[in-house]
Amino acid sequence: MAGQIPRQFIDELLARTDIVELIDKRVPLKKAGSRNYTACCPFHNEKSPSFTVSPDKQFYHCFGCGAHGNAISFMMEFEQLEFVEAIEELAKDLHLEVPREKGQFNNRPQAQADDYTLMQQAASYYQQQLQQHPKAAEVQAYLTKRGLSAQSIADYQLGYAPESWDGLLKHFNANSKAKRDQLYDLKLISRNDNGREFDFFRDRLMFPIRDKRGRVIAFGGRVLGDGQPKYLNSPETRLFHKGRELYGLYEARQQPGHLERLLVVEGYMDVVALAEHDIRFAVACLGTATTSDHFHTLFRYTSQVICCYDGDRAGRDAAWRALQNALPQLKDGVELKFVFLPDGEDPDSLVQKEGKAAFLERLAQAKPLSQYLFEHLLAESDPSSDAGKTALAAKATELIRQVPGTYYQEQLSSKLDNLLGRQSARTTKAPAKARPTAPSTTLKITPMRRAIALLLQNPGLVQVMPDAPELADAALPGINLLLSLQQHILAKPGVTTAQLLEYWRDLPEHTILLKLASWEHQIAPEQLTQDFLDTFHSIEDLYLQQRLEALERKDKLQQLTKTEWQEYHLLLQALKSKKPRPVS
Ligand SMILES: [Zn+2]
Repeated sequence: MAGQIPRQFIDELLARTDIVELIDKRVPLKKAGSRNYTACCPFHNEKSPSFTVSPDKQFYHCFGCGAHGNAISFMMEFEQLEFVEAIEELAKDLHLEVPREKGQFNNRPQAQADDYTLMQQAASYYQQQLQQHPKAAEVQAYLTKRGLSAQSIADYQLGYAPESWDGLLKHFNANSKAKRDQLYDLKLISRNDNGREFDFFRDRLMFPIRDKRGRVIAFGGRVLGDGQPKYLNSPETRLFHKGRELYGLYEARQQPGHLERLLVVEGYMDVVALAEHDIRFAVACLGTATTSDHFHTLFRYTSQVICCYDGDRAGRDAAWRALQNALPQLKDGVELKFVFLPDGEDPDSLVQKEGKAAFLERLAQAKPLSQYLFEHLLAESDPSSDAGKTALAAKATELIRQVPGTYYQEQLSSKLDNLLGRQSARTTKAPAKARPTAPSTTLKITPMRRAIALLLQNPGLVQVMPDAPELADAALPGINLLLSLQQHILAKPGVTTAQLLEYWRDLPEHTILLKLASWEHQIAPEQLTQDFLDTFHSIEDLYLQQRLEALERKDKLQQLTKTEWQEYHLLLQALKSKKPRPVS
């Protein structure tokens, strides 16, 4: 393990990050009520907003799907980051360096950081060659002919890999074996059977492939003339897994606001050419079919995906493969469409020829999934014969079965019924709601949970909370959590709900704390202190009652010590003189 990130730093990060601002940049928020903000939930598909963000608690919660957490959780969920990556991203926003505690040694994270640095250096080298290489003017002329402006070239960090066997090798002046191994591992250089090393990309236009955090993880190289292969990608490396990455997704996500849709095209040139025409929502798969992982990623960022293919045989095959891979990702509320371009055209050539408006019009005419699916099946099986009907039913049912969205399933099934000329057995009314049921059954609020929830949501209540260390001995579930919450707040005045939750992230109590943080207590602000005190006292009473019963049992056996005997009588008196308190 790497050195741990100091707890104090995580605290500071949460103190300085404003969760409203953080989320608003990704999911535009609207004010709701006097304090909170709301939006349609980014973690499930819905038409009316049930996702709320509380600036006081620095916490978000969705009443639809139950998603909740602090800024770190949001980054992990929304950006699909690991814990440490989420910390790094938040730190980057605040221009902070993530410190590491000393002690443990393992240089893997350092090595990984070096990998990203090296890839960025290679990208810079290719960019520089596009300006300085003797052939630069020729390459620039080619780009101009392809209609690319200096802005697009800069936005996508395009570069040129020179026509040379050792341009990159020399640039890195790779004398050490370790350095050359790193270049080789990242597939920037190749080795032949004799161990001779040479640049992997030569005389190609270079497209850096960036991951979801904008780091260069691989390259795509396109031939300038008619050479083969037209596109050459970095092979898989420890940084690059092509079945998961989408070229252009990082850039598309840099656009302000929510991504209404994403367009999947075939090549990087298509992505850049479309951006040049201000169509900034295209992504390209990297030498693979669009995988199920790709669709999973795409539907994380948008609810509408349009796949764009050549109208030729290869394009149709690719589209059908994509459809099959997409089926398991079709939750209710998402939309998948297909566009087929005229033979011999690609989005790059077409947008140049027709312009933006005409291209967008093609997208508007895209075929919905259900239409494309049945057109394809009908081309294979003719339902006018019994054999054709059976074949169609079997194939369609097998495909529909894979769709998780119930509304989607219904829609496809009833379309199949129509085609087969059979009465739809299914009810057509009331399509299943896109909203999944909240995973948490309603939380039972005991006095202990009530006290914990109120304190967690309003750490300032610690001021009125009595110091009662004897409670630690009580056999009351949750008492240790309540007391340790109290200690944490006392140790760190001004601590927020979000920070408190962070202390428990890896502990078993985290789940219940998250639920209690999002519990809506409906207590008026001016009643809050009294309610909390009443709740606390009722917990104390429970403890005193327990203690009294224990002493009573001992007394019957005549085993009380002198101090216990005194305590027993004090308790009896105290409980007698006390009016019963309301227990919530
Ligand atoms: Zn939700």
